[in-house]
Amino acid sequence: MTAPNAWRCNVCGYVHRGDAPPECCPVCGVGPAEFAEHVEKAEAAVKPAVRRWRCTVCGYEHDGDRPPESCPLCAAGPDQFEAAEEVQAARGGTAGRIVIVGGGVAGVAAAEAARRTSPDATLVLLAREQRIPYYRINLTRYLAGDVKREELPIHPKNWYAEQRIDLRLRAEAARIDLEKRRVELHEGDPVPFDRLVLACGAHAFVPPIAGADKTGVFTLRTDGDADRILEAARGGRRIVCVGGGLLGLETAGALARRGGDVTVLETYGHLMPAQLTPRAGRILADHLQRIGVKLRPAVHVKEIVGGASVAGVLLEEGDTVPAEAVVLATGVRSNTHLARQAGLTVQKGVVVDHLLRTSQPDVFAAGDAAEHLGVLYGNWYVAQFQGGIAGMNAAGGRVEFGGIPRSHTLKVLGLDTCSIGQFLPPDGSYRAYECEADGRYFNFVFRDGRLVGANLLGSTALASAVKKAIESKTDFSGLLAQHPTALQIAEQFQVRLSA
Ligand SMILES: Cc1cc2nc3c(=O)[nH]c(=O)nc-3n(C[C@H](O)[C@H](O)[C@H](O)COP(=O)(O)OP(=O)(O)OC[C@H]3O[C@@H](n4cnc5c(N)ncnc54)[C@H](O)[C@@H]3O)c2cc1C
Repeated sequence: MTAPNAWRCNVCGYVHRGDAPPECCPVCGVGPAEFAEHVEKAEAAVKPAVRRWRCTVCGYEHDGDRPPESCPLCAAGPDQFEAAEEVQAARGGTAGRIVIVGGGVAGVAAAEAARRTSPDATLVLLAREQRIPYYRINLTRYLAGDVKREELPIHPKNWYAEQRIDLRLRAEAARIDLEKRRVELHEGDPVPFDRLVLACGAHAFVPPIAGADKTGVFTLRTDGDADRILEAARGGRRIVCVGGGLLGLETAGALARRGGDVTVLETYGHLMPAQLTPRAGRILADHLQRIGVKLRPAVHVKEIVGGASVAGVLLEEGDTVPAEAVVLATGVRSNTHLARQAGLTVQKGVVVDHLLRTSQPDVFAAGDAAEHLGVLYGNWYVAQFQGGIAGMNAAGGRVEFGGIPRSHTLKVLGLDTCSIGQFLPPDGSYRAYECEADGRYFNFVFRDGRLVGANLLGSTALASAVKKAIESKTDFSGLLAQHPTALQIAEQFQVRLSA
């Protein structure tokens, strides 16, 4: 009998490698009793092929023998990259016709992985947008003027031809006919497939606010949206960003850099509540104001007022924030209509199993469109990772997606932030250690002597050491018995990092 070398969380599917299950699932927080033995199958056709590096600042993944000179997303240097788990790529996969719907990062990663897996497969990438696939994640840097339009594409145009990927721009899938195994387009002939990958991403969610249809109200999802916002924000106009999450803040910071008079409206009492403690949120708010953005926390939008064009945002609290442009950064929703119409199982996203198969085994889904064990990640790095797995599996590989630990390492308005695991103590059995020092903020949360979560601000240099300590259930009882400060705990991680 094969000994277990991994444990799968029954709740969220996270796969933990080691002799014993983890104390606490880093994805959904359940205890070891919820983990079942998981024997990882050594697939004959599957072998390691690519060395992969992950940027510890923004999560960008780079394939190659060494990390890149500079991260194309956040400009971090090679020392900020850590070796990521090797990508398992199958070789000599199934030949056949693989059609991928969606030219975002998940679709491109799927095409790339399918080509690596199956040199003989016919690959068609259907992309609704006009321009070749680009770094959507960089649109706020484009808004700020830090990235030029010509720097946005993920790959140059000729790369697709070199990889024998038939990239069709302005090709919008209208319907999937599972019986005839073909994708019908809004314009043009149907596209037949043997295997299909749905990588249709997500769209910006517009809440039901009166006046949201006025001229001057925008969302930011595509490069076209970014151009329209830039046009509307010219000449120091007053702009309101609704939503104090990552997208709202980055958009606000970018437009302030362009000379806009920008106000952020946030419903919660502090910024980025899903990623930051209240104290970290306040530090970020101070930073926001230092770069010239006004913040209105704990307010609720009642109506966008004006004539045909926006004149301001009326708050439930009674006052109106004047504005010539409003950007709604109020979340996203998965693009599920194609899957729904085809009769595939859809909840909030297109439901997939560990192989990223939908309820129809020849149809895969990845990225913002996909829902894996109830989780919609909505994150660039996961979309790229899932896209790669879906592409390999569509081409005949058999690689599992086991969930990703709940950690966000982001650069928000130039400030490095990182949240990992249970960074807010849910009850008295947890103990938090928090401090600010030299422009940095540390928050470490322990339970029963083990680190279960952390929040870092100002520097994320310790992020990989912290992640490792959580995943390996390192026992800190000895250190905690000495009643350390948060700074002393941070120094311990610094020592581990340099060791
Ligand atoms: C401005 C901005 C900043 C962001 N910043 C970050 C960040 O800092 N960190 C982070 O992790 N994430 C960030 N994100 C989120 C990240 O970009 C997404 O998680 C990621 O792009 C998802 O990739 P995807 O390929 O699944 O979907 P998408 O990028 O949405 O791509 C899907 C593509 O499919 C196309 N499509 C849809 N329907 C059809 C159809 N019927 N036929 C053909 N094509 C179709 C769409 O037009 C689109 O091009 C940001 C997003 C935005 C908009």
